[in-house]
Amino acid sequence: MLAVASLFMLLYSCRHKPGSDQQLTTRANVLEVLMAGNYRFAHAKPVHPDESRQRMSEIAKEQHPFAVVISCSDSRVPPELIFDQGLGDLFVIRTAGNLMGGLEIGSVEYAVEHLGVGLIIVLGHQQCGAIKAFVDGGEAPGHIKDIIDSIKSEQEIREIPANDKNRMDHCVEANLRHATHQLLNQSAIIKEKVEKNELRIAAGIYDLQKGEVSMLKK
Ligand SMILES: [Zn+2]
Repeated sequence: MLAVASLFMLLYSCRHKPGSDQQLTTRANVLEVLMAGNYRFAHAKPVHPDESRQRMSEIAKEQHPFAVVISCSDSRVPPELIFDQGLGDLFVIRTAGNLMGGLEIGSVEYAVEHLGVGLIIVLGHQQCGAIKAFVDGGEAPGHIKDIIDSIKSEQEIREIPANDKNRMDHCVEANLRHATHQLLNQSAIIKEKVEKNELRIAAGIYDLQKGEVSMLKK
């Protein structure tokens, strides 16, 4: 654990010198950059990179985000804040329960095909209201029912036993596994790029108390 903390401190010191907006991102280290940003955020040392007028001018003509983040709409999980990133850094898709349909996957395809993004991270979180509504059962009004029905239809969620003592947490994880499978199974563009090693898909869970993102083991 100490080694991990030291690594992140090293990344912190190397990649974000206070007062600098420089982010030394390469295709190989984008996940490290995000996790280093999350380390800063979780330890109350955010540097708020890429928020300057200069940055606005730099990206006014075109964007070059380095990661796609698919996260929940929950107001407590804003990707730019929890990864300590700024303008033009992340291409973000947010829906309740980080659920995806054609429109959302199309947005991801745009980012990887036209913007050349090399990392997709699907970000779930503890106590996700959408997952909890499914776990708790009962009727949902209006189009909220569509959200519950979508979660209910996920094979990965259906494999979690109804009497599982940690059902809520396991359903959050299953929902993330579903999302990663969905990206590969429903998008030829994404699948091809992953097979060519031009694109990586990761999944993480955000801890609402600690502010930390833990990567989901496959
Ligand atoms: Zn949520």
